[in-house]
Amino acid sequence: MAYMISDECISCGACEADCPVSCISAGDSKYVIDAGTCIDCGTCASVCPVGAPQPE
Ligand code: SF4
Ligand code: SF4
Repeated sequence: MAYMISDECISCGACEADCPVSCISAGDSKYVIDAGTCIDCGTCASVCPVGAPQPE
């Protein structure tokens, strides 16, 4: 299991700073999660202002 970031992402960067395993990075139009590294902790979803990270 991993989280995925939807197109609602406004590229604020809050999730990248708080991910415990640093698997979030800036993509072309939104931030993206490396599914192979994500430990499914849910922190990104809790800090996101627009609810973009969702469990896959
Ligand atoms: Fe990082 Fe946790 Fe979000 Fe996965 S669920 S991307 S480990 S903050
Ligand atoms: Fe995008 Fe939400 Fe992450 Fe901000 S916290 S970069 S809006 S997914």
